Amino acid sequence: MTGQRRPPIPPGPWLVVGLERSGAACARALWKRGEPVIGVDLAEPPEAEALRREGIEIVTGSDGLEQLERVRAVVRSPGVPDEAPVLVAARAAAIPIYGELELGWRMLDCRFVAVTGTNGKTTTVELLAEMWRAGDQPVVVAGNVGTAVSSLVGDLSADTTVICEASSFQLADSVAFAPDCAVLLNVSPDHIDRHGDFQAYQEAKLRLFAFQSAADVAVANADLLALASGNARRVLIGEGDADIALQGDQIYWRGERLLGSDEIALRGAHNLQNALCAAAAALSMGIDAEAVVEALRSFAGVAHRLEEIGSAADVLWVNDSKATNVAAAIAALEAFDQPLHLIAGGQAKAQHFGALADVAALRVRTAYLIGEDAELIAAAFEGKVEYLRCGDLNGAIDAAQMGAEEGDVVLLSPACASFDQFVEGYEQRGDQFRLIVQHLSGFSGR
Ligand code: ADP
Repeated sequence: MTGQRRPPIPPGPWLVVGLERSGAACARALWKRGEPVIGVDLAEPPEAEALRREGIEIVTGSDGLEQLERVRAVVRSPGVPDEAPVLVAARAAAIPIYGELELGWRMLDCRFVAVTGTNGKTTTVELLAEMWRAGDQPVVVAGNVGTAVSSLVGDLSADTTVICEASSFQLADSVAFAPDCAVLLNVSPDHIDRHGDFQAYQEAKLRLFAFQSAADVAVANADLLALASGNARRVLIGEGDADIALQGDQIYWRGERLLGSDEIALRGAHNLQNALCAAAAALSMGIDAEAVVEALRSFAGVAHRLEEIGSAADVLWVNDSKATNVAAAIAALEAFDQPLHLIAGGQAKAQHFGALADVAALRVRTAYLIGEDAELIAAAFEGKVEYLRCGDLNGAIDAAQMGAEEGDVVLLSPACASFDQFVEGYEQRGDQFRLIVQHLSGFSGR
């Protein structure tokens, strides 16, 4: 159990705005505590009916403005934008707005390890959980994607550690959220369409550290820790005398050798950074070094993140559909020595593709462009990277199959969001890719 006291849940009645997974879980958790709760959603989300049956007042097809005058506090689901009229009105009326992550944390008394960053959160969270399991310590993974933190209320023993993935949207709302261990992996431009500018996005990420006390731990590289506020003990990732340090191809924890970097099962320099962060967090939280090393050696990653599907005609096909921004796609390109055939494109989210073009120029034989913003990538690649306009994923796979030669790699790493062609998101894009690839002639899986 954590030694720290968490702020109490403020008194209701509560208005929960947005009733997808995390909003629904939070409405339920508050209701079970005996708080009066009204839930609203512009649409008719799948959970609405079940919540009604449980006795919660649910108004669908509503922006919540009408219900606002009956409440004293608001929960905002991460998908609800700042400009939503109900949030604007709540701010004007000085009604406090909370995020689900913060409230879930306040309602639980377990230890929390929270991970944020532009890329690598899911991979690192799953790797951390693997470390806990290797050390026979009770653990649960929650947050951003997957299980909402507030859905765990009432279900966990106090000795369980919650490893939670925190998005910038969730952190932007935190007012006291102070995980026992906070990990900031990296920050590069993403979601600028939502946060307004890079500064605001980075500030949201740094809020992960802001409320930590001296009993807590903050894990990041020196550049990011230099920007962090809060009073946590700082655990440095880096080289030389950092707490966890890469020296040549060996990894040291406070001067003691842990393992060689080539023993880590995950591929790529970016995953080495994720691995260092996870190891530092786990070791700081008392997980045995043997368990940490065992997990680093065995954990092979998560689907849709550099997922090696298999080979056909001696060409390796890799699904990195989760690369929904430029930094992730660059990390993927840099993770291979073989000549690459890159499938990219989708929704650009106001990103620039110049940096991708520079790296692709060194590593990509041909790029196969798809989706709504293919022309933006084409413009950046012009004269630097050979590219073909392929329209959609099927067309790109056909063209890549024709273009790739023995020993090459075909990499789906789109650098863009997927919603223009895949309404359900990157998983749908990656699943479709995997399915088609598995039916290529001569395919053999990994
Ligand atoms: P997140 O949960 O932050 O989106 P994931 O682990 O799901 O992170 O990975 C998202 C994408 O980013 C994948 O394409 C993955 O290969 C890539 N990625 C993972 N870690 C990093 C990193 N440290 N730097 C850049 N890209 C990364």
